[in-house]
Amino acid sequence: MPEFTQFLAKHKEDLQKIIKRLDSSFYFYDLDELEKHLTYMRDHKDDDVKLWFACKANPLSSILKLIRNLGLGVDVASLGELEQVVSAGVKSEDIISTGPSKSRKYIRSLLKNEINSVVVESLYQLEWLEEQAREEGVKAKALLRVQLPWDEGKSVLGGNEITAFGMDKAAWEKVNLKHYPNVEVIGFHVFQWGNILEVSQLEKIWDKTCLEVKDLAQKMEASLEVIDLGGGLGIPYQNESKTIDFKDINDVLVKLKAKHGLNKIWMELGRFAVGECGYYLSQVIDRKTVRGREILVLDGGTNHLARPALTGQAFPCHVLKEDPSTETKEFHVHGPLCTAIDKLGVFKLPENVDYGDWLIFSQAGAYGFTEAMPFFLCHNLPAEVVSYKGDIMTPRGIKTSSDWLV
Ligand SMILES: *Cc1c(COP(=O)(O)O)cnc(C)c1O
Repeated sequence: MPEFTQFLAKHKEDLQKIIKRLDSSFYFYDLDELEKHLTYMRDHKDDDVKLWFACKANPLSSILKLIRNLGLGVDVASLGELEQVVSAGVKSEDIISTGPSKSRKYIRSLLKNEINSVVVESLYQLEWLEEQAREEGVKAKALLRVQLPWDEGKSVLGGNEITAFGMDKAAWEKVNLKHYPNVEVIGFHVFQWGNILEVSQLEKIWDKTCLEVKDLAQKMEASLEVIDLGGGLGIPYQNESKTIDFKDINDVLVKLKAKHGLNKIWMELGRFAVGECGYYLSQVIDRKTVRGREILVLDGGTNHLARPALTGQAFPCHVLKEDPSTETKEFHVHGPLCTAIDKLGVFKLPENVDYGDWLIFSQAGAYGFTEAMPFFLCHNLPAEVVSYKGDIMTPRGIKTSSDWLV
């Protein structure tokens, strides 16, 4: 992905036009960059490595269409995501389903849609999959999700905390798969640590995971045709020049495949797939000094971009301004909500930044629009704008409170 200055050189005029037209906060996605990024991954990937896109990172239809065209599968975690992915034209064999909340009814819809495989996360899920597969007269392919106990640092996926994702090894060991003749277990799924930028740390986690999973597969007399390592590849929220090269990830996977005698390795990528192609833009509404601190208040905040409030990690911030001063100052950037958690971060910005200027947050293509809390205080919803092959399209316009309040 290009440095921010290159991005601005390419898109400044377009952005100024969009700002004039929408006059309200919006997301902007550079789909040419996304296409380049996904093509690079496809071209540097071992044949036994299969990539899925974790839909929750960004379910925008234009993004799903590119994903589909470039041969990635999609991982869905709800009925809403399943319907969005199917209507974007993703074929059933290119869809898998993960997630701790799968009702019997939802499992039935997954089978009716003939999706590739279901990642089973509980005993009830296993029972219901068996029952629904029998009723549908099909054999359901499944991966068993395992939660492993070791400390590898904090993570939104829980890390070493006990979470609702999957079951521990001891619980799986008690399961006799012969009791589930309509479920074909093709492998195992493990994903507990996210947003990691060090390839060596990923390797360490995956190596340990492979050992644990091989042991479990043997004890359960289960097939290990597929090991699914989930997502977890980080993007540079802090230092925009430190990125992962997918080639290095592939090298690690090839090495682990040989070391552990694996067949197929699957990964579901969210953040790493789409994070870097997206930007969130919002206007500065006010500037003031409060008890010695420089404060900017924006048109949008946690209502459009919740991740900083949820994780304490800011998105990189830049100013769109004709005459930015070279001198910078530290600003605390707040959103429009009447709660102290509505803060996008603390940034060094040109000293003369003021009301009317626009801020651009980069690395915002994943966990943006759909992760936010858009209804609180009844501000506008952000638009979503895409740039692709010279065209600017706005699949989602601005929505005002009168569009949803009753
Ligand atoms: C969210 C999620 C992912 C994607 O995680 P990233 O860290 O964004 O790559 C992959 N697999 C599952 C099961 C997930 O819930």
